[in-house]
Amino acid sequence: MTATSPAPDARIDDLMRDQPAFASLEFFPPRTAEGVANLKERIVRMRDSTKPMFMDVTWGAGGSTSDLTLDLVKFIRSTGVVANMHLTCTNMTPGKVDEALAAASACGIRNIVALRGDPPLGEDKWTATGGGFECALDLVRHIKREYPEMCVSVAGYPEGHPNAISELPSSQSAASLTEREKLRCSEAGGKVSVCFDADYDNELKYLKEKVDAGADFIITQMFFDPEVFGNFMSDCRAIGIKVPIVPGIMCINNFGGFFRMTGFCKTRVPPTLVAEMEKRKDDEHELKEYGVEFGAEMCMRLLALGAPCVHFYTLNLEKVVYGILDALGWTTELSAKMDLDNDAGTMQAKGSAWARVGDEVQSMFGSGVVKEVRQDGAACIEMRSWKLAFGQTPTAVLQAGMYKKV
Ligand SMILES: Cc1cc2nc3c(=O)[nH]c(=O)nc-3n(C[C@H](O)[C@H](O)[C@H](O)COP(=O)(O)OP(=O)(O)OC[C@H]3O[C@@H](n4cnc5c(N)ncnc54)[C@H](O)[C@@H]3O)c2cc1C
Repeated sequence: MTATSPAPDARIDDLMRDQPAFASLEFFPPRTAEGVANLKERIVRMRDSTKPMFMDVTWGAGGSTSDLTLDLVKFIRSTGVVANMHLTCTNMTPGKVDEALAAASACGIRNIVALRGDPPLGEDKWTATGGGFECALDLVRHIKREYPEMCVSVAGYPEGHPNAISELPSSQSAASLTEREKLRCSEAGGKVSVCFDADYDNELKYLKEKVDAGADFIITQMFFDPEVFGNFMSDCRAIGIKVPIVPGIMCINNFGGFFRMTGFCKTRVPPTLVAEMEKRKDDEHELKEYGVEFGAEMCMRLLALGAPCVHFYTLNLEKVVYGILDALGWTTELSAKMDLDNDAGTMQAKGSAWARVGDEVQSMFGSGVVKEVRQDGAACIEMRSWKLAFGQTPTAVLQAGMYKKV
């Protein structure tokens, strides 16, 4: 690090010790340059309106987005937010893992999520690459040995890792499951899947190995029943896992995408949630409103159960996250006025003056209606006060700060 480099990030485990409850946000690297530019703008807006403790960027399967992941974590750091970089072992030789860690360390990253990763596309079974790491545990050990400055987090699975989730034989009914298995089991296409208690206990033992190897905190896979998280937390504590356990919250934004993702991860979607979503499946606005209501209730229950924070899988979208954090009272004023229908960011916040299309505004030149809000916060305002010939209305382009919402 040179004398002019900015100071390295704080370690998240240190930050957590000092702050009783907080939010954090996770993003993935977009596929296009335009997507990256949009995401960067969104990151800044979300920093301003939700004040997260840290922001994560995922690692693309097989290191496919490694440069972009690094670029995005550097960008997050440049905005003054602590970055948490994911790193997986899929298709990664030990040399490539070290390159990624060295680059992250050199630019001041101090927080890594150490993961095994999923098998490459089209393959069922996970195998190590070039004599490399076999599982997340190996990666944790490596980072702790070679990069002791790093705070390392690992994945935890309140319903069991998909590899440990089995289909119930057709001869066995869900009624035969234990009460805990019933809370973890999911049903799709007439088939019941569950992580049996014995497999779940093995998963916990393995999670404890990752923590004993030095993992500083755990971030969980998504789940939709807070009681599943409550059980997971008490089961972890019972076997001596003492580090913070951060619940991962998947936002409900969209019907098809939600069920594709929960199906892929074998996540249990409680029947009441399925029914409520079915009712709203053709109306995205109503579905998002419900997503806010459901998410807010779930977060409140999680915090009551002792979760230290809420970590959002944002899917690079912002409105439902804002809605939930507003309900918790964790946002700045701007977010309360966000428009659920529009996740493309037509609203701009610039100091205290902000507006959106359709708002009535007042300026020193008169009053009018906002017709467009530009990326730099300037608004095109159709003025009411003066009229031109043939009924034309003049449009003024005013910089943020020169107009006020009325
Ligand atoms: C919070 C979070 C963030 C994620 N971020 C990303 C990301 O950025 N990019 C991405 O591609 N994927 C990501 N994933 C998905 C993740 O890569 C997959 O779930 C993957 O299948 C497992 O990764 P892991 O780190 O949990 O693996 P591991 O902890 O290695 O475990 C995987 C499975 O193998 C078993 N296992 C492994 N080793 C042993 C052992 N020695 N003894 C006993 N059991 C063992 C475990 O019990 C478990 O069932 C994320 C998941 C979560 C929950």
